[in-house]
Amino acid sequence: MARTVLFKNFTVVTPNNEGRLDVLKDAFVAVKGDRIIYVGDDRALAVRSLMEAQRESGGTQIGFDEYNGKNKILLPTFANAHSHIPMVLMRNSADDMCLEDWLFKRILPREEHLTKEDIYFASLLGMAEMIHGGTGAAADMYYMSDETACAALQTGFRMNLCNDGKTRDDSGWHTDRVALQAFKNTFHGAGDGLIRVSLMVHSIYMYPQSFYSELVSEAADIDVSIQVHVAETRTEVENCSAQYGVTPVKALANFGVFDRPCIAAHGVHLTDEDRDILAAGHVTVVHNPSSNMKLASGFCDVQAMKKQGVRVALGTDGCASNNNTDMYMEMRLASFMAKGKTHNPAYLSAEEVILMATRSGYEGMGFMDCGMIAAGMSADLQIVDYDRPSMWPVGDPVSALVYSAGASAVESVMIAGHFVKYKGELTTIDIEKVKAETSKRAERITQFA
Ligand SMILES: [Zn+2]
Repeated sequence: MARTVLFKNFTVVTPNNEGRLDVLKDAFVAVKGDRIIYVGDDRALAVRSLMEAQRESGGTQIGFDEYNGKNKILLPTFANAHSHIPMVLMRNSADDMCLEDWLFKRILPREEHLTKEDIYFASLLGMAEMIHGGTGAAADMYYMSDETACAALQTGFRMNLCNDGKTRDDSGWHTDRVALQAFKNTFHGAGDGLIRVSLMVHSIYMYPQSFYSELVSEAADIDVSIQVHVAETRTEVENCSAQYGVTPVKALANFGVFDRPCIAAHGVHLTDEDRDILAAGHVTVVHNPSSNMKLASGFCDVQAMKKQGVRVALGTDGCASNNNTDMYMEMRLASFMAKGKTHNPAYLSAEEVILMATRSGYEGMGFMDCGMIAAGMSADLQIVDYDRPSMWPVGDPVSALVYSAGASAVESVMIAGHFVKYKGELTTIDIEKVKAETSKRAERITQFA
């Protein structure tokens, strides 16, 4: 059950409506049910708003929990805008390879042997890791996604979750409208709005040419958004150019992919024209700095995208190419990568990467009432404890979050008003059971390649 909580005397770091960050010192944040109902510096007003909300909901007892914010920062949970959660089973087992060898020689042969139970337990493990590190939502692209959806609902984790939506037989690929519609009917909006459903269009290199238009019309008919990989490697761009005579962005645009609300992962190798196309479409591009560097895919030019009006969020990609889902690490790396690449230390400031990791990610995933600490928004919050040598003295809290913090500094995480991590402990996942299940399953599937 969602709690009624008064967060008191916190340093609050939050995106505002002008696309910047606000920092509030000694602030009070009141949460009732799944909503934030007060943000400000007046304890009396915060308490009054809780009492009024309690009366309006017919309660006779006035009561709430208090959470002390001494030496603590309250900020929105992170939106990990590109992940493949069940790939945690392949963590640390396919490293130091280029993307094509990694994908076709190691990952795909193993994926053929995954069972539904593998996906379920791997999903729980991935969610446990993300929650521990302050992530409250993920845009996830994988297979057997009903298992991941069940794990998310059981955990209380927020997701924009891809469904494969297709089948393959001897005659080739086919859309599976029945399966996609059933998945949407079952899970879209489930858990009081925790889950949003989308369609996987893996990439421009995965399917035959004739199939892309079918996929887009399937997404339109069933009214779901799309998740896709785009322009991740130079090889992808060269092959696409040879096959279609245009860049991956143009090819996908020609098929209508960007006419749907779309999360497009990577965008490493883009032209000015590509960026204009992405800016004009309903697209959020997701920067995955660790994965791009580890697979030597290249350096995504976030500044150029922002300059041309492309919306950009942040993601971890899957655990077989990262090999973790720590958004603190991604923020730090995104900022450092941009500075190092351009020889400009002002590029991708701490403020900009926090905005990418929070508000921009939630907007791209379609959760418009998340990623900001303001009255009326969903109570998706994390607490960072900076009473530790590595973050002391805290200095500028915005800098501290990007340049000094890490997943281990996250003390508590609330999603839609529920604490899923409370003072260091996961509240909805039996982590020892999940660890035991996933270690034996990982051992089994890594035998296959
Ligand atoms: Zn990916």
